[in-house]
Amino acid sequence: MKAVRFFGHKDVRVVNDIERPVPKGDEVLLKIGGAGVCHSDLHIIDEGTVVGTVFTLGHENAGWVEEIGENVQGYKKGDAVLVYGPWGCGHCKPCQQSKENYCDHQSEQAYGGGLGLDGGMAEYMLVPSSRLLVPIFDLDPIIAAPLTDAALTPYSAIKRSLSKLMPDEYVVVIGVGGLGHVALQILREISGAAIIACDVTEDKLAFAKELGAQFAINSKDVDAAEQIQKITGIKKAKVVLDFVGVTSTIDLGTKVVSLDGDLTIIGLGGGHYQYNMNGLPFGVSMTNPYWGSRTELMEVVGLARQKKIHIEIEKHKLDDANEVYERMRQGKIKGRAVLVP
Ligand code: NAD
Ligand code: ZN
Ligand code: ZN
Repeated sequence: MKAVRFFGHKDVRVVNDIERPVPKGDEVLLKIGGAGVCHSDLHIIDEGTVVGTVFTLGHENAGWVEEIGENVQGYKKGDAVLVYGPWGCGHCKPCQQSKENYCDHQSEQAYGGGLGLDGGMAEYMLVPSSRLLVPIFDLDPIIAAPLTDAALTPYSAIKRSLSKLMPDEYVVVIGVGGLGHVALQILREISGAAIIACDVTEDKLAFAKELGAQFAINSKDVDAAEQIQKITGIKKAKVVLDFVGVTSTIDLGTKVVSLDGDLTIIGLGGGHYQYNMNGLPFGVSMTNPYWGSRTELMEVVGLARQKKIHIEIEKHKLDDANEVYERMRQGKIKGRAVLVP
């Protein structure tokens, strides 16, 4: 079968000679409907975040059950499902609580399909256990694939700050890409806070306003922090969600976050922060959440089925993977690109 394979630093190739896996035991074989293209893939491809292995990319996956191992119950051929991405051990306490994104054994094992193990940028994908599947009912797997990450990750980050996102507060969203454009819609639907979006191009700022941001600021402007403080006034922003995570966006976050606020860095841009007592308001919680839980993914499916969030999709063929990654490097993708086998 055809697959988009990571061979090493800046070396991604579309190949045709991968054997279609046969599921055994608890495993499930999916016919892939769509695999989302996440910026984390670029960190792997360009910066070598996962080294030493050759594997099929794609960690945002959805499709239809094709074949099940002999121990699998509750699923049959044709069921439409999402693949929960961070594969834990399945046994430790966080995994039992469905938080496999924080599995105790994360440091000992590959992260999951598309992140060291074979992922979904292929015609078929082997999932190690039906525990990692979430049914999507009437949703189309092509459109639903990015729910597993581009929606789940911001959903989980927003949920942990929800009690601070009251109607008299402000939230700053930095980066209106795959994750950020869904974050704006989740905030619009489940929180009361006024939304200030930041990106570096005028089209992304206009897009942010369409999606529910009341204000849009270009974070390349040298006075971006002052512009944001002009909006928030003295109270500043109760929550900052940074979907870029480079040093300049982290700096911006520390300047605009309020006393007792949350500064949540989701982007894996490799930025640095040097703690400075006078540079950070008292009571700020700085966090770097990773993905979300299995049950939160079920809640995200609920948001999509109620049409409260809409993922802006561009569809591409597996053969076009390298062109799509190049467009992502240049910040040219609106919403999320999905590879469709
Ligand atoms: P994307 O490429 O789709 O979007 C990035 C957006 O940020 C673009 O709109 C770009 O114009 C904008 N941007 C770039 N530099 C900026 C700056 N200085 N200020 C403001 N905006 C800027 O990326 P994505 O797929 O949404 O991923 C975003 C980040 O989140 C990546 O670093 C990715 O690796 C990371 N990520 C983290 C997790 C997690 O669990 N922590 C999960 C998924 C993705
Ligand atoms: Zn991702
Ligand atoms: Zn575990």
